Amino acid sequence: RLVVEGVSRTFAPLRGGAPVQALEPVDLGVADNDFITILGPSGCGKSTLLRIVAGLDRPTTGRVLLDGHEIRGPGRDRGMVFQSYTLFPWLTVAENIAFGPRERGVPRPERERITELYLRRVGLEAFRNHYPKQLSGGMQQRTALARALANDPAILLLDEPFGALDNQTRALMQELLLGIWEQDRKTVLFVTHDIEEAIFMANRVVVFTARPGRIKAEVPIPLPHPRNYRMK
Ligand code: ATP
Ligand code: MG
Repeated sequence: RLVVEGVSRTFAPLRGGAPVQALEPVDLGVADNDFITILGPSGCGKSTLLRIVAGLDRPTTGRVLLDGHEIRGPGRDRGMVFQSYTLFPWLTVAENIAFGPRERGVPRPERERITELYLRRVGLEAFRNHYPKQLSGGMQQRTALARALANDPAILLLDEPFGALDNQTRALMQELLLGIWEQDRKTVLFVTHDIEEAIFMANRVVVFTARPGRIKAEVPIPLPHPRNYRMK
């Protein structure tokens, strides 16, 4: 269980200006296997919140607890995918996916098993030896997703991961992600600008106000999941 407790973030002033309050104190409880989408206007602090949960940034006030322990930095338990593809350009698809397991010293045979597994899950077996610049945007995001999954994180943090994709690729990626969520029982925090996407993907939508962001509404999405109606 993930608990965001009074988390706010104020950025130091740039060139003598006023400090920027990006986020007002936010409280959010996330149950295991929740799929929460975060919706809100540009600049309301969505990425800031996600980066804090990822441990890539520290809150100005408050804290994030994971199973009762305060998060103090990045960890294997959380995998993040960014809107702009942040693959390692000098590594192939397979090497990008194997990066996390390699970092934590997983022996080669097991590393290869993990890499194959996630190459297959995201449908990129045929592209294992390609470099990121040789891939389409959708393929790069599939690689980024596979790289995040290769650490088997309990929590996936996705910051507008499909924002740059065309509608058809986006729909495919949505189905891929929902499949992973259901099969692997992940907890997902998913930031999006797209109201339709927010509603179709989640079991709860959290809506932020404009900057400084605070939670304006939390909307549970009842079962049966709306996407069942959309899929023919
Ligand atoms: P978008 O939907 O456009 O991605 P967002 O909701 O993700 O927006 P954030 O990126 O979290 O918004 O930024 C929230 C506010 O904090 C913005 O006004 C931004 O300019 C400011 N901000 C973010 N990072 C920093 C930083 N490192 N230094 C100063 N200000 C920052
Ligand atoms: Mg953002």
